[in-house]
Amino acid sequence: MDKKKKLGKINQGIKNCRKCFLSRGAVFAVPGEGPIGSKIMFVGEAPGREEDLTGRPFVGRSGKFLTKLIKAAGLKREKVFITSVIKHRPPKNRKPKKEEISICFPYLENQIKIIKPKTIVLLGQTAFSVFFPGKKLKDFRGKCITLRQAQGKQEFFVVYHPAAGIRFKKMKKIIEKDFRKLKGF
Ligand code: URA
Repeated sequence: MDKKKKLGKINQGIKNCRKCFLSRGAVFAVPGEGPIGSKIMFVGEAPGREEDLTGRPFVGRSGKFLTKLIKAAGLKREKVFITSVIKHRPPKNRKPKKEEISICFPYLENQIKIIKPKTIVLLGQTAFSVFFPGKKLKDFRGKCITLRQAQGKQEFFVVYHPAAGIRFKKMKKIIEKDFRKLKGF
């Protein structure tokens, strides 16, 4: 099966997924979007209201900021893959629960296996924690980390979630500075 078909199958699985409670309250699943050959993949936490209503990742306020950051890093949004750990919106945008994360994570793992991005940009603590459990994002932000796994090496770049930049001016500056480092990738 070619990559496009494989990714389509995963997306269909996400759309039909009823493994946890989140699918019941959601309008649309948000599998993610971007070319199969993307060298960079951005991973957020979970869809918000706008994403839920459109089925597209990062299209609300955080998304608009993320799009600006991607541009400032010299990249094009259409050329990168954007997704989140959780594929259905949690009620009232609450933090996803541990069991929801463990149920949903295999979808992201399979997306990564097919897309094989050179770099995965982890947006915020939730995305960071699924790959680096027990570690604090603030100790790693703005840094590149290589994880050696059975499937080979995987490079990660860690940043605060764009939503934090919208809420706090100080965070915005840090996020902008960290994203500029992506220019060298
Ligand atoms: N925040 C996320 O983490 N993901 C989205 O898709 C939108 C907002």
